[in-house]
Amino acid sequence: MTTRVLVLGAGFGGLELTTMLSEALGDDVDVTLIDKNDSFVFGYSKLDVMFGRTTPDAVRLAYGDIAKPGVRFLRQTITAIDPETRRVTTDGGVHEADVLVVALGADYDMAATPGLAEGGNEFYSVDGAERLGELLPTFSQGRAIVGVCGAPFKCPPAPSEAALLLDDYLSARDVRGDCEISFVLPLGSPVPPSPDTSHALLAAFAERYITFIPGLPVSSLDPARRVAVLGDGSEMPYDLFLGVPKHRAPDVVVASGMTTDGYVPVNPKTLETRFPGVYAVGDVATIGVPKAGVFAEGAARVVAASLIADMRRGEQPGAYDGLGSCYIEFGAGRVGRVDVDFLSGPKPTGTFHEPSDALVAEKQHFGSSRRASWFGR
Ligand SMILES: Cc1cc2nc3c(=O)[nH]c(=O)nc-3n(C[C@H](O)[C@H](O)[C@H](O)COP(=O)(O)OP(=O)(O)OC[C@H]3O[C@@H](n4cnc5c(N)ncnc54)[C@H](O)[C@@H]3O)c2cc1C
Repeated sequence: MTTRVLVLGAGFGGLELTTMLSEALGDDVDVTLIDKNDSFVFGYSKLDVMFGRTTPDAVRLAYGDIAKPGVRFLRQTITAIDPETRRVTTDGGVHEADVLVVALGADYDMAATPGLAEGGNEFYSVDGAERLGELLPTFSQGRAIVGVCGAPFKCPPAPSEAALLLDDYLSARDVRGDCEISFVLPLGSPVPPSPDTSHALLAAFAERYITFIPGLPVSSLDPARRVAVLGDGSEMPYDLFLGVPKHRAPDVVVASGMTTDGYVPVNPKTLETRFPGVYAVGDVATIGVPKAGVFAEGAARVVAASLIADMRRGEQPGAYDGLGSCYIEFGAGRVGRVDVDFLSGPKPTGTFHEPSDALVAEKQHFGSSRRASWFGR
């Protein structure tokens, strides 16, 4: 009988997993991929939308374009997951699986930061980035804060990029001299596993008169007074707040009983959960790696290779390695890279690569190669 693989979530993890299964097994596998959205958007495209470098329509990759042997995509909202029986309920029906892969990412918890929804603007969703894309042209003077409300959050370098790109954006409009930019981060440095990357970012902040406040989250906003309250109770006035909300696993995952301390614990080598035949990959899982697409993708590859080995009676793949490379926008069109290794040593390490033209091209290839392999575009 053909193995039924049910993949919940068509983000970095779900897309990579289904692509690998289809390429290796074609019609010999029965893969159902479910997502509530009609399209995928790369995380970094949200920064491009926010700063008016592109439009939301231009960065949406439609799931309708997925045409892969053995894979069917269903646009449905998952309402319940039973990991014991591998039964999943959606607004379209009930699905049963031999293998269940949970790749539902992390959601944003706006309510966890009082005042954020009313007085701030998050830029971590497409809608939030789009709203800011409309608001930013009206900001020409005053105090801007890029503020992170809690850790862990997706793509640790992204808020640093936002601060640098805001400087670019305001400079291009010739209003930078009338604006202040501060950047509040709960981490002790911009990219903790790589001191070299952090130093390069700190130098970029200093060059651009961006005030960096490390080690504190933004705990709340008081929209009436236009004040951000930080983790130590100190207050910072603002005219524009660009926020990264607190993250949490989607409610449906928490309700399934799979989570501990907010996310799904897995065997970091195999991505297996404690439920037989059930895996979790990407931002929804706790593995000890950051919440980023490259790590979701790497974890998905290990699960796919293991399933392919099972079905082909081949050799099992090696353990998940926790390696990943992130591109970092330094502003003025410059792109650097940090290669991080989270699992092989006693503590995470990172290697910094200075911004270069080659890395600008590499980042473009990162997007275009995935567009091609996931969407055939
Ligand atoms: C501004 C920004 C910049 C970023 N830059 C980078 C970068 O340069 N490099 C990088 O590697 N990462 C980057 N990231 C992080 C990256 O986008 C995420 O870490 C990555 O998408 C996680 O992949 P995932 O498969 O775990 O989850 P996701 O890609 O989030 O996919 C989860 C999917 O599950 C679906 N879903 C959730 N709940 C339900 C439900 N109930 N029913 C049906 N479907 C549901 C969602 O619609 C979503 O499509 C960035 C993120 C942001 C916000």
